[in-house]
Amino acid sequence: MIGCGCEVCTSTDRKDKRFRSSVLVESANTVLVVDAGPDFRCQMLKHKVKHLDAVLLTHSHKDHIAGMDDLKAFTYFTRKPMKIYADAPTEAAVRREFYYAFSDTRYPGTPEYEMNGIPANSFLIGDIPVTPIPVWHMRMPVMAFRFGKFTYITDANRIDDQEKEKIKGSDVLVLNALRKEKHVSHFSLAEAIEQSRELQIPATYLTHISHQLGRHEEVESELPQGIHLAYDGLVLEFS
Ligand SMILES: [Zn+2]
Ligand SMILES: [Zn+2]
Repeated sequence: MIGCGCEVCTSTDRKDKRFRSSVLVESANTVLVVDAGPDFRCQMLKHKVKHLDAVLLTHSHKDHIAGMDDLKAFTYFTRKPMKIYADAPTEAAVRREFYYAFSDTRYPGTPEYEMNGIPANSFLIGDIPVTPIPVWHMRMPVMAFRFGKFTYITDANRIDDQEKEKIKGSDVLVLNALRKEKHVSHFSLAEAIEQSRELQIPATYLTHISHQLGRHEEVESELPQGIHLAYDGLVLEFS
């Protein structure tokens, strides 16, 4: 956190250096990213991502969409618009925030977006199966996504019972846990662990972690079996 001198913010452990939450999902022939926050450019450069087929957006908060201008680097090379998947309120925010990408008088180098809604049921992006799972961020609807055996949920503090059915059977769940203290719109550490238990997920990785949660090494050592802290650069492979 800017200006903070706490033990997390001053830690030299690379696992305590956290960019904004995002995930890249890659199959044999398709690469997609969930969210493109303010750190998107640095994340793409750091991990040397050369190709991207689509971006799925969870919701319109700036820490999840602010980096979308930098998608122009991908569209510059492919000369094709980037496929964006967003629900109606998120699409409205993208059109507002990046108005110049939707104007009639686009200057060279403007990012090009192909806006797609999010279907109610499972769909394919390339060869990656995507199941949208609406969850709640206090009163704001947020999209979570399941890709085969992997489910990614960020910025949630409540999941409706019928949506839980779509998550069950996942081998791996990435779930947000902001800090130990309760928060109005994010799961706390205890709430995230409880959700994982209820959904009977074998391996859960916690994301969207605030500096208030504590140092990675310390918190990780206190977690129950099957629960881990995610960290920047974590790679999970599925067969
Ligand atoms: Zn701090
Ligand atoms: Zn967020």
